[in-house]
Amino acid sequence: LFISFEGGDGVGKTTQIAALAEHLRARGVEHLVTREPGGTELGAQIRGLLLDGGHVAPRAEALLYAADRAHHVETLVRPALERGAVVLTDRYLDSSVAYQGAARSLGVAEVRDLSLWATGGLIPDLTILLDADPSLARQRTSSRGRADRLEREGEAFRAALREQFLALAEAEPQRFRLIDAARPVPDVAGAVRRAVEPLLAG
Ligand code: C5P
Ligand code: MG
Repeated sequence: LFISFEGGDGVGKTTQIAALAEHLRARGVEHLVTREPGGTELGAQIRGLLLDGGHVAPRAEALLYAADRAHHVETLVRPALERGAVVLTDRYLDSSVAYQGAARSLGVAEVRDLSLWATGGLIPDLTILLDADPSLARQRTSSRGRADRLEREGEAFRAALREQFLALAEAEPQRFRLIDAARPVPDVAGAVRRAVEPLLAG
């Protein structure tokens, strides 16, 4: 069972993955928590290039995310799925589609195709889209040193991003669960559990 968590910066993906992982642990369900970019050793280096370095040209950025994902899927995600673990990833291909495809205007279809090529077509069984107003989410990110970078990207960038995530959820209702992330953390965690529970039973 492969579950991705998606949404803009500061919507609570990392917090909610930790809560779901704790729930799975308590139930004795084997699982792996991972993230993009940076879920592997190579990925951590790619993450550094993307987030801690200087300007990266948009197409180079898209290719670096795809490289991170290709390595992540082949060396970590697929092996875990093959041994029957539930894999929870903090971001996956929909982030590339929304950030690089839409917000950076590289093309939604192109970036999706690139990601499908990179992963050999691996698509999550379930994608939890945490949605919140970007201004609310920004209050969370400003407290963790990313504010500068996000500030540069601007309001229009964040709006395009959110709109694209919502469009993706609407286009694939069977894969996506849209969850209002503006509510208190425990409420959101409950909604996440309710989305996941039927898949665990099956
Ligand atoms: O919060 P997280 O660890 O996912 O941070 C990754 C950063 O990389 C975020 O600030 C996000 O804006 C950025 N990102 C991006 N394009 C992606 C995925 C993440 O610009 N495809
Ligand atoms: Mg996070």
